[in-house]
Amino acid sequence: MLLGEGEGFVSCACGRKHWGLYGAAGLLLVDPRRGVLLQHRAMWTHHGSTWALPGGAVLPGETPADAATRETEEETTIPPHAVRVLASCAEDHGTWRYTTVLATVRGEVEARVANGESVALHWVPLDEVEEYPLHQDFAAAWPLLREQLDRQLVLVVDAANVIGARPDGWWRDRAGAVARLRDRLAALSRIGVAAHRVGLELPRRWCWWPRVVLVTEGKARHVAEVAGVEVVSATGEGDDTIVGTVVELRSGRPQDHVVVVTADRELRRRVGELDCVSLGPGELWRLLEESAQAARSRSRGRVQT
Ligand SMILES: [Zn+2]
Repeated sequence: MLLGEGEGFVSCACGRKHWGLYGAAGLLLVDPRRGVLLQHRAMWTHHGSTWALPGGAVLPGETPADAATRETEEETTIPPHAVRVLASCAEDHGTWRYTTVLATVRGEVEARVANGESVALHWVPLDEVEEYPLHQDFAAAWPLLREQLDRQLVLVVDAANVIGARPDGWWRDRAGAVARLRDRLAALSRIGVAAHRVGLELPRRWCWWPRVVLVTEGKARHVAEVAGVEVVSATGEGDDTIVGTVVELRSGRPQDHVVVVTADRELRRRVGELDCVSLGPGELWRLLEESAQAARSRSRGRVQT
């Protein structure tokens, strides 16, 4: 077999051999109506004949999410645009890393065996997954992965409060300052954020690509939406609009992680009663700086996260 760049076995510090010189990634794709997509691995593959996720080696310059969606298309014909990537969970062995990328389907998708790596593809109801002869690593990870299936991270951002936390001249042009914040949030939604950094009680290996809801008021009310950032403009009291937004999010998708970004103590108390985490503006600004740096290094093709 001719090996491509990034393909090959790593003799890992854990004492085992793993596939993928730059690590490997798999796609845990859920269709809320049918369950999760499992692949029956061909006999000749590593740990052949077990059931696991579509996926494979991460190639140079790829993120694990790129690798997982590319491999899934190669193995199942499901194209990357037919899935929405929500989160990832990395199992880091030091010398090697496996990343499970959690995603949901966008509408109807059909999985077809597309190359020799799989012998079958099944949509498996969640309660039946453990009845399959699973790959040992997937079997070990499944109980915790299952808890996070189809859960979005939603960041609800109190725009006035967040721009007010940095004395950068925002008072001269509030709408401009909110538009700049919006653009930086859009970049964050593309790069992703570690769960523990936004106050979720999850191990460090978890990361989410957040859906962002920016709540604006006053002169910044009419800031337009961009990809990755929804804008809700408050007609009256901004705090009431934020609480109303959270109530709506909670009733539509109660499983989601909702984080409200504000320093306002009364607002933090009110959203806490709705089972939301609060994050201070200072921490959000730090995350925005870091994601801008990560985007710059990624565009130079040097970083894989
Ligand atoms: Zn290892």
